[in-house]
Parts: sequence; C-alpha cells; structure tokens
Amino acid sequence: MNIGSTSVLIVEDEQEIADALEYALTTEGYQITRVSTGQDAMAVLRTQTMNFLVLDVGLPDTNGFELLKAIRTNQEPYSNLPCLFLTARSEEIDRIIGLEIGADDYVCKPFSPREVAARIKTILKRFNSFENNTRTNSDAFVHNEAKREISFDNAKINLTKSEYILMTLFLEQPGRVFSRRELIDLVWSEKHPSDDRAIDTHIKSLRAKLSQCDPNIPFIKTHRGHGYSFNLNF
Ligand code: CA
Repeated sequence: MNIGSTSVLIVEDEQEIADALEYALTTEGYQITRVSTGQDAMAVLRTQTMNFLVLDVGLPDTNGFELLKAIRTNQEPYSNLPCLFLTARSEEIDRIIGLEIGADDYVCKPFSPREVAARIKTILKRFNSFENNTRTNSDAFVHNEAKREISFDNAKINLTKSEYILMTLFLEQPGRVFSRRELIDLVWSEKHPSDDRAIDTHIKSLRAKLSQCDPNIPFIKTHRGHGYSFNLNF
C-alpha cells in the first residue's frame, strides 16, 4: 500500500487540532476524512473503506476507547484497523487501556502533527509487512490475513491486537527465541523500558487461549533469562 492510496479517518472534535492534522497528513499524501463524533465515525466506516484511524479519546458523544471497541466488534472488516489514539490525559492507565483494546499507539496532546504523521507511517509499515509476508508452518494454524484472524483446527482464536501480533511473529518464525525486549519493540512501536512484565502478561493470556485449542501442547516455550519461542513440532 503506498501512502497516496491510504485513507485516514480523523475523529477529533477540536477543530484546530483536526485542521493541523489534516494539513500535515495531506502534505504527506494521505487521503483524509474528518468527523467530530463517534456516530459520524461509524457512519463513515459503514460506507467507505478506511486504512487508518486517528482517534481522539475525549469525544462529545462517546470516548475513543468505547468507539474503538465498537468498531472492532461490530464492523467486521475493521476488526484490526490500525489506530492511533490522541489523548489529553497521559496517565499510564490510559495507555494500557488503549493498547489492551487494540490501539497501535498513542500521542499525548499537545503534539506535533509531524510527529503524528511519522507514527502513522511506522505503524502502517509494520502492519503491511505482517500482512504481506506471513505464512504459517503448520496445517493446524491458519492465518487469514485479510480478516486478520488466526484459527486452530478451523476454530477462530479470539485474540487481542497485541496477542494477534505476537502470534503472527511466532508463526512466522517457529522455534526462534524472541527476547522480551524484541517482542516489546515488535509489538509496540514505542520504547517502553520497564514493560517486560507487560509482555509476560500478554504471553500468559495468549497461553490460556492456546490451551483452549489443545491443552496438551505447550505451544509457547519459556527460555529463562532470554524470552519465548513458539513450538510447532507436535
Ligand atoms: Ca476532544
């Protein structure tokens, strides 16, 4: 996907911020659609194809977290639409909630529109490289790239965005030991120096979901002091 064909939906009720973003992103070559409420955002997504979402957390009729959840749940083709949150609140909790429900990154206001453009580029690059290159090595796992779904023996595994990215990495290179740092950098586009435990939490929940696929297979192997690898030899 080149930038010229990338449609970005900006959902932001502060007109000055939306103006600045539209200007910066149009300059970069993105096709911009702007709305200021959650309701209008849903209406656009029902009728137009969007490749990226820039989402304000504080909206007049809803909040960005709820809206993203609704989009991911109800709008089938958008279950993994890449999303960047704009937030006025910088508390850790906002970031964690945002990333947990499937945002790819966030920026805190006030931000530079150029910084936003750079983040979008990074996220799309990562997103498209997963989309184009992934092949699974086992017949048991099937990765539907168009739907961004992974299934095991024909049953869809319900994954969060972070878990989906982890699975994609694991299936691309089964047996490879990924360090925690490596996984953090690959799953999240920002450096989070103290977030080793967050990766452990994601791995734990992913393991729980995989044990529902087959409780007898230790899919994810822990390498003490190093990180994790994925086992497809079963
Ligand atoms: Ca707002």
